[in-house]
Parts: sequence; structure tokens; C-alpha cells
Amino acid sequence: MATEVVMPQMGESIAEGTITKWLVKKGDQVARDQPLFEISTDKVDAEIPSPTSGVLLEIRHQEGATVPVGEVVALLGEAGEEPSDAEATEGEADGEERPAAKQPDEPEKAAKAEERERAERPAEADRPEKAAEADEADEAKKREPSQAPAATEGDYDYDLVVLGSGPGGYVAAIRAGQLGLKTAVVEKDSRFGGTCLLRGCIPAKALLWTAELLDHARHGEQFGVLAEPQLDVEKAWQHKSNMVDVNAKGVQFLFKKNQVEGIVEGWGRLAGPHEVEVDQGGEKRVLRARNILLATGSVPREMPFAKTDGERIVNSDHVLEHARVPKSLVVLGAGAVGTELASAFRSFGSEVTLVEMLPRLLPLEDEEVSKELERVFRKRGIKSLTDAEMSEVEAREGGVRMQVERRGKSETLEAEMLLVAVGRAPVTEGLGYEEQGIELDRGYVTVDEYMRTSVPHVYAIGDIVKGVPWLAHVASAMGIVAVEHMAGHDTRPLDYGRVPQVTFCHPEVASVGLTEKEAREQGYEVQVGKFPFSALGKARIAGKPEGFVKIVRETKYDEVLGVHIIGAHATDLISEACAALQLETTAEELFRTIHPHPTLGEAMAEAAHASHGAAIHV
Ligand code: FAD
Repeated sequence: MATEVVMPQMGESIAEGTITKWLVKKGDQVARDQPLFEISTDKVDAEIPSPTSGVLLEIRHQEGATVPVGEVVALLGEAGEEPSDAEATEGEADGEERPAAKQPDEPEKAAKAEERERAERPAEADRPEKAAEADEADEAKKREPSQAPAATEGDYDYDLVVLGSGPGGYVAAIRAGQLGLKTAVVEKDSRFGGTCLLRGCIPAKALLWTAELLDHARHGEQFGVLAEPQLDVEKAWQHKSNMVDVNAKGVQFLFKKNQVEGIVEGWGRLAGPHEVEVDQGGEKRVLRARNILLATGSVPREMPFAKTDGERIVNSDHVLEHARVPKSLVVLGAGAVGTELASAFRSFGSEVTLVEMLPRLLPLEDEEVSKELERVFRKRGIKSLTDAEMSEVEAREGGVRMQVERRGKSETLEAEMLLVAVGRAPVTEGLGYEEQGIELDRGYVTVDEYMRTSVPHVYAIGDIVKGVPWLAHVASAMGIVAVEHMAGHDTRPLDYGRVPQVTFCHPEVASVGLTEKEAREQGYEVQVGKFPFSALGKARIAGKPEGFVKIVRETKYDEVLGVHIIGAHATDLISEACAALQLETTAEELFRTIHPHPTLGEAMAEAAHASHGAAIHV
């Protein structure tokens, strides 16, 4: 039976689409979800993906034809198959709107053959000679997505095995449980949650909360609160550890609640397109799965000239683990992790110097935000050396000596501790990825919009994926898309241009969308609106006048292109901006939205007003 490709319904009021370009030709072998043709409607332009893999048997409408929604545009089938007259009858389309979300639809024959082959095949452990032959055949199959054997019930231990339980892996497993997939999670750590829960977001924010409390108490006098706060280092780190425990246990609870059946502790590797081998203290076990999701995350990047020793030269894992506040600290790298930890240790009483190779702190943020952060950090006693390259590092008695080249001059720095915070490296080596044909680019896995790797049924998400921001919420969102896609559920590719960036230093920084510079470079005619927190009642009450909200909008449609916030609770305030960008909101809609008073959120409406030259309170 040939499969009909129909003109899809692209929106409620869209009745037809014009085929603007064919991307394949009659006789071509196409993979499921491969774009077949482009259409243009009065509202949207889109590429239409193939609902299944197969050969393009017939093209019913050529480029330029305007075709009603639901009408058959083409037929797909097996090579040599003739479309029957009945199939060729127009108007019999099933009207499926989202072919991309269907389960694989490979020929029944292949499924049966594979089932038979598997029944005859000895178990993994006792098939030495045949293994090579079978592996060769598997190898050939996996490189040809459209010819991958169909999965049948009973073939696999699980519908999905997730390798890694960070915010990518654990969220994906929960979603899979919700969608009824029989799911297992393999984790080498003794606790779930990955970098985010154990060595990243959660412990860092727990320490930053202690830092904030200390600062509040130090400045309490102006609010009538008299205190002489002191840091109890052990207790602060104990609070951090408690928060890690609570969150890690929470994941376990959620697994149970959502019927995530297999919790497999051990070191896993991809052993085949449908196999994960788990090493459990020397004993090996193979899990067979219809789909595999790689979510092995990242680790702190090492610099060859500053190898960490956990004592004097450390990374974020070390400082979050060991309860210790150095008298002096140099932080190499002023990205999110570097600035957050610099901020916390300054509040704890360390002398802090930030060293950044690029010309500004948080180099990915809007330039005005970086400038304001440097100004406030200076006021707080954090020294920033930008445009500075660290070349030599010597760990010595009682500390570290560092050589820094800056604007043509060489400078020597000394500190009790050097924190290396220059980014993260993906965990993809030695895990069987390359051997199994997973395409890697400088160590990162390449995926398509549904998180599929180059090997059918193997997906990848989170910090191991090429070109996506190293953020927990990105890993989680990717996990949800991947699982929904493999389950044949309605899903949507992510728009990475609308990912919020958040940095929890004090003052906090958060942004979404284009910076002013990016918007101009992309050719938009731009209007900017800025509103300082110093003009806002709630910020003044709380003694938090630093920072501002900056809105970047384009002038033709008034659409908001980017929002950049530095100041108290910026990381919470940014969610409104995320919704605004997702809904393609105008600045006018933002300022006509009634914001409650007195709140920090009023700054958003004021900035939108300011972008029209009409802020009320400045
Ligand atoms: P990970 O969280 O790294 O998880 C990978 C998991 O896979 C780990 O549990 C690991 O043990 C497991 N694994 C690896 N190899 C194997 C194997 N062979 N077998 C079995 N298991 C394996 N992001 C934010 O969004 N907000 C923040 O505030 C934030 N703060 C951060 C602060 C710090 C100090 C750091 C370091 C990072 C922070 N991040 C933050 C980034 C965030 O933690 C990561 O982007 C996120 O954890 C990536 O998720 P992931 O699931 O891809 O991988």
C-alpha cells in the first residue's frame, strides 16, 4: 500500500497551499521526516516532511500548483511498487497534520524477518563468531535510516533507555513514563540529577542564597535590622548538601510516580544501535531498547597550563564540594559559572579577581549589561581584568602565582586559590558513540530538530549536543521534544533564539532574544527602551537600585526582539519576556499589560513604554 502525502492544514483559517519547490524527485529514496517540498500559504511558509520512509512513486502536483488542504500531493511506497488506481484517487487522504510525529512505519516484512532472526540468534554473551557477522549487518542497516529494521513488540527490554540522569535525561525519562513508554535510566553516579542537581545549578544557588542573606544582614541597619552577621562555612555547605540531597531524592520520587521502571546504576556505553551495555562493578549487562537517548552531559574543561589539583587550582566541582573560603581567589573565566562563584566568594569575604580573555564580563550578554555588572562588581570590591590572557600558572606553597598578559603588558597575580571556570567539555569519548556511527563534531553530537543523531532510534540531548547553550532548561526541553517525537506524540522543534540566559551573581543577569547589537547586525531598524531599577519603588524599598530592564524592539511591527535585565530578581523577571517573545508580542502589548504595583515587574512595562519614548517614572 502506497502512503499518501497530503497538503497539510497549517492553521485554522488556511484552506490551501501553493507548492513553491520540490526538494526530491520521482524515484528518490526518502527518509521519514525528510523535507519533500516547500509550500507557501497566506500566513506561513513551510517545508513539508515525509510521513514515512520509502520511494517517491508519484508527484501529483508540480511547483506553482495551489492545492486544497487534505488533497493528495504525492505517493510514497517501496521501490518498484505501482500506485493502485484506488490509491491514486484524489481526496482520500487521511488528513494527518503532523506526519513527523508518527511512529516508524517500515514494511511489515522487515519486522517479521527481524523477529525471526532474533529468535534464532543466541543471546549476546554466547554468540562469539556470529557476532561479527551480525554486527556488520547491523552496521550497514544503521547507516541507511530508511532501511532500519522495524521494531516489534517483545524484541526489546525497553521502549527507551536513557543514558545519564541530568536535567536532560531525568526529565526525558519522566516524560517517557507519562507517555506510556517502558523506560530505563542508566546512571553511573550513586544519585540522580547530574551536573545541575549535584554539581551545578542547585548547589551553586544554595551557596548564593547564603551569600545574599549575608549581604542583606550586613546592610540591614538602614532598614532597622541590627545584626553582626558571620559566615558559618560548615553550615553553609551543609545547607548546600541538604538541598542537593532533597532534589536528588525528588528525582527518584518522580521516577516512581511516572512509572520509570528501570533504574540501572552503572557505567553505560552504546554497544549497538539498540543496545546499552552497563558495567556494574565489573559485571556487564546489556539493555535492549527500541530507542536510546544519550544524555551524558559535560564536565569542567581543563586548561593545559592550569591543571586542577582540587586544592590550590580548582574547578566548580571542587569549590562546591569542599567547605572552604580562601582569603584570596582568582577566577579564570567571566561566564555564568565564573561570575556566580566570584560573586558568592566575595560575599563570603574572599578578595576576588576575575580574569577574562574577552573585552567584557558575561561576553554573550548585551554590552550595556556587561558594563553595569562590571561597575557594580567594582563597587562590591570584585576586580575585573578583561582583555586579559592567563599564560602561566604555578602552584606553590600557600597558593598560586599567575602570569597575565593584558593590553600589551604582563602582570603577575598571586592568590590562595585559582578557580578555573572556562567552560565545559562534552562527555562523549569512550562511550561507543563513534564506533556505532554517531556523528560527532569536535566531540559534540550533531542532532536534527527532533534530537535524532545520525543513527536511527538513537537521540541525543543536553550539554553533549553541538551548538546549544549549556543550560539545564535547554537540556530538559530537548529531552521532552526527543521523547515526544519517539513516542509519536505531538511535538515541536525548539527555537534556540528564545532560550533565556540566566546568571545568579549579585546583581542577577537574565536575557532572552537578540541583543541591541545583534538586532542591528541582522538589519532591523531598532528602538531601545531602558528603565532603571533606581526609579522603581519596590527596588528602592529593598535597597536594590542597581541595574535596569532594556527592551530591544523593531520599529516596523513594534515586535519585541530581546529583553535584557540586570538587577534584583532578574532571573525570575525574565519569564515574562520569554512569554512575550514566544507570543511575538509588541512593545505596546507589553506596556498595555497592567502590571501590579509595587513590584519589580513594573520595570518591564516601563521599559516597553520607554521604547516608545514615553516611560512614566523617569
Ligand atoms: P548533566 O547534568 O551533565 O548530566 C549527565 C549525567 O550523565 C550525569 O549524571 C552523569 O553522571 C551521567 N553519565 C555520564 N556518563 C555516563 C555513563 N557512561 N554511564 C552512566 N551515566 C553517565 N544551568 C542552568 O540552566 N541554570 C543554572 O543556574 C546553572 N548553573 C550551573 C552552575 C554550575 C556551577 C555548573 C557547572 C553548571 C550550571 N548550569 C546551569 C548548567 C547545567 O548544569 C547543565 O547545562 C546541565 O546539567 C546539563 O544537563 P545534561 O542532562 O545534558 O547533563
